[in-house]
This record gives sequence, C-alpha cells and structure tokens, in this order.
Amino acid sequence: MRISLVAGNWKMNKTIAEARELVFKMSSPLREIQGVEKVLCPPFMSLLPVSALLEGSGIGLGAQNMHWEEKGAFTGEVSPLMLKEFCQYVILGHSERRTYFGETDEIVNRKLRAAQAFDLTPIVCVGETLEQYEAKQTSEVVARQISLGLKDVDPAFAPRIVVAYEPVWAIGTGKASSAENANRVHAQVVRPALSELYGNETAQAIRILYGGSVTASNAAEYFGQTDIDGALVGGTSLKTEDFVAITKAAARP
Ligand code: PEP
Repeated sequence: MRISLVAGNWKMNKTIAEARELVFKMSSPLREIQGVEKVLCPPFMSLLPVSALLEGSGIGLGAQNMHWEEKGAFTGEVSPLMLKEFCQYVILGHSERRTYFGETDEIVNRKLRAAQAFDLTPIVCVGETLEQYEAKQTSEVVARQISLGLKDVDPAFAPRIVVAYEPVWAIGTGKASSAENANRVHAQVVRPALSELYGNETAQAIRILYGGSVTASNAAEYFGQTDIDGALVGGTSLKTEDFVAITKAAARP
C-alpha cells in the first residue's frame, strides 16, 4: 500500500514575509488532514523561516533544486548538506530546470545520488514536451529519463524515491492531462521502467505523482486511478483553499 503524497511547488514566488503568511494560513487546515503525506516546497530563501513554522506540524519541507556536491567553488549553488538542516525532500529534474538551466538526465542522476547520500527524499520529475507528445514519443522519452536519471542507486534507498510524471505541455498551461492518460503512462511506462532498474517489488513501492495543471476541481479524478499516488502541484499550491482541497482529495483511509 503506497501512502499518497501531495507536494506544493511554489516555484520562484513569495517573499519571506509572504511565505510566512501563506504557511500561517495553510498549516492548520493541512495538519488536520490524515492519510496523505504533505510537503511544501518554497524558494530557498524561505526554507529556514518556513521550517520554524512547520515544526511539529507533520507537514514536510522540500527544496526545489540543489547542487550535487557537498561544498566547494560552485558560486550561487546550494548543497545537500545545507538543505539537510531544514528539509526532508528535494524536487529534482523539474522541467523548468531542464528547459531553462540545461539539466540533463546525467545531472539529475548526480543530484539523485547526492539526495541518497544526504538522506533527502527526492521527488524526481519526468515528462515529455508538447513536440514529443505530438510525435507520440512519450513512452520512449519518459522511459529514457528514468533509466538514465534514476540509475545506480542503492536498492535500499530506491523505495524512498518519488517520481512525478509531469507532461511539459500540461505544466502551468491549464491543459491538464486526462486522468486516464496519466494513469496509463504511470502504469505502462514509469512503473515498468522502475521495475527494469530495481525489480518489480521495489517498483510497486515507489510513489508516482501526477503534475500539470492540477486544481481543486480536477484533483479527485487523478486520485481515483490505480497508479496515481498523489500530485505535484505548482500554481494552485499558492492558493490555500484549493491546495487544502487537493490534499483532502488525495487522502486515503
Ligand atoms: C509544477 O510546477 O510542477 C506544476 C505541476 O505546475 P502547475 O501545477 O502550475 O501546472
């Protein structure tokens, strides 16, 4: 039985004061919801103040990215050792990182292995672009992102990995994938690719989230599917009532 997980990716939004205000509003309704793992991923600047507000709440904290090295001459970067002080999770390989910052599957893999070394739960994003979707290359692209990005991890760590299938054409566009299409990719592409790497038993234990224009009105459709174990929510994670509603919809008794 996989525990469902809902993570809010705030992207590059909210000053520290605004982040504190948002967490003040959402933490009490969120902490009431049982049967789902809840994670907030604010920008780096807000991790420290938000971690103080979340203490004892049962709500996890995640970063949106990190470098793979522990320390050194990497100007402007943040290391897993630094994140480890406040965070339990880290988003890796988000499509915006791949598109705007040139992250490759090899880089994602280095970061994943760093997450393992520093005991951070990675939420690894995969997904095809619109062009690849239209060329019917989804299976090939997603399977390759998994086989290269998730290779060479310790079998004992593998069940901790969370995969987020996020078709790039659905992110921030309001054009969400249908729940059936997402479930098909999860069950027929993502999980078999995980099984190739880690074996069937481990693949069955790994949570696969859907991400891409999830809202309070469409969330329940995703969570009713067999292979959708939660959601990575971008824009809507900044709206308290809607994010709380999505989290409630994901809760399983
Ligand atoms: C995301 O940033 O991971 C995401 C899914 O964004 P949105 O929910 O806004 O589509």
